[in-house]
Amino acid sequence: MGATTIRSRVRGTARRVIEYFDRKKWLQAFATTCVSAVCFTILMKLSLVLLFGNGIAVCWPMVGLVTAVLLKLPRRRWPWVVLGIVFGHIFAERAYLFDEMVVDTVCDVAEVMVTAYALPPFTNLSGWMRERDLLLRFIAFPVLLGPMVTSIPVGIVFSRELHVSFWTEAKNWFSADSLGIVLWLPLALVLLSPETYAIFRWRALPKTLAVAGLAAGVGAVVFGHRPLPVSFMVLPVLLLVAVRLGFSASVLAVNLLAILGAIATLHGRGPFAFVQGEYRIIVLQVYLAMCMLSCFPVSMMMMERDALERDLREACDGMEELATRDGLTGLANRRRFDATLAVEWKRAIRERRPVGLLMIDVDCFKMFNDSYGHPAGDQCLRRIAAALAGEGYRATDLVGRYGGEEFFVLMPGTDQTGALMVGERMRAAVEAMGLKHERNPHRVVTISVGCHSTVPQRFGRSEALVEGADAALYMAKKDGRNRVEAHEPAAGGRRALGA
Ligand code: GH3
Ligand code: MG
Ligand code: MG
Repeated sequence: MGATTIRSRVRGTARRVIEYFDRKKWLQAFATTCVSAVCFTILMKLSLVLLFGNGIAVCWPMVGLVTAVLLKLPRRRWPWVVLGIVFGHIFAERAYLFDEMVVDTVCDVAEVMVTAYALPPFTNLSGWMRERDLLLRFIAFPVLLGPMVTSIPVGIVFSRELHVSFWTEAKNWFSADSLGIVLWLPLALVLLSPETYAIFRWRALPKTLAVAGLAAGVGAVVFGHRPLPVSFMVLPVLLLVAVRLGFSASVLAVNLLAILGAIATLHGRGPFAFVQGEYRIIVLQVYLAMCMLSCFPVSMMMMERDALERDLREACDGMEELATRDGLTGLANRRRFDATLAVEWKRAIRERRPVGLLMIDVDCFKMFNDSYGHPAGDQCLRRIAAALAGEGYRATDLVGRYGGEEFFVLMPGTDQTGALMVGERMRAAVEAMGLKHERNPHRVVTISVGCHSTVPQRFGRSEALVEGADAALYMAKKDGRNRVEAHEPAAGGRRALGA
């Protein structure tokens, strides 16, 4: 069995499982709760082991991570995730005193809910970053209000149990939770967003590695020595990352710095090692939070600039399209013809290839208008345009309305014989439509076609091509209409096809 077959089978099975879960609501709720509880327990255990320094958590990732998941999920599934958090708490903290466990659980859930309700749902990173007042909402609710309010009950209960001051306990909770949200919520959203992985694509990789290397190097310089207050050095690098690689990269860079900074500071290295006692961690936390928050507005500005650039490009394309399209028939207009002829003429000189042109004029059209009225005349022109456009030719050919009841077909690379054939196909197609025209000798709408093809010479004028096709059209009219005439200057004569 090939890799593609296996992949499609796995995908099919996954889709069937998801569909089954979507149908069975209770099963979906149960699964969400279980997954949430298991993930939450593992995270709690990992955080308790890894993130403490001298009994103080540098940062508390849980709320940020869980909220990122909630922002991705529909609100109806939130209660089940929250139930999972409660079970996770009970399991991970079963050795705690009862009131400690209750306060910890309630406060974590409260923070998660404040954060999830304060922020807009997450679909993709660029859309999310452009939500109204995002930065303000982010700082006001998840970063300040949630951790601040929950630090009060935590301070009361844990200070009593751990025999430390209320202030110390509340301060540690607030700073660890606040930093946890500032660092981990953007990180989780960035990792959940497919846009992030663009910086790891083959073509972007050298730039990514260069900027990441620079960030890691500066991080090592800032945190790798005995106390020297050079923390400001990271700011230009972070701004460079935000500007050159975007928000995702700056989030990854700040988290890299957070790891370097936490390890260094806890081991008495880096610019914050000189700070006394527990304040060392708090200064580091504030520093990292400021780094992250500085990247936010820059990245938002860059995203807005990109979006603006995209909108502008689309608007320009739209205007260009409008400016080069004929309003009545939807075909290319005279302006497009002039521009394309200039380009193709030069190309033909370079490549020594012919350029063919058909000039097409509707026969006795004034009388058509006089007999059936202008609106019917307009409709007739639209039908003719559709017939001309429908006569298959090469992708490089351009069919359009020259003006009034005249059309053109510009055919780069087509010689006289080919141009004559296309002209005849078009003439026959219009006649075959059988549009009634009592005052045309053929009793239906017909066209006359003048055709000319030439291999342009170095100093030749492109106007000569139009003049040749016009001269042939004049001959077609003169010789009875509903005909195709070719201009043959070398032979001093012409070739004709026609009814
Ligand atoms: P011939 O066979 O010699 O080409 O005769 P003709 O009547 O087609 O030529 P003439 O140049 O005398 O008339 C062209 C007519 O095409 C006059 C004008 O009213 C009509 N016409 C030009 N543009 C439009 C248009 O956009 N809509 C309509 N309905 N008629 C148009
Ligand atoms: Mg005309
Ligand atoms: Mg005409």
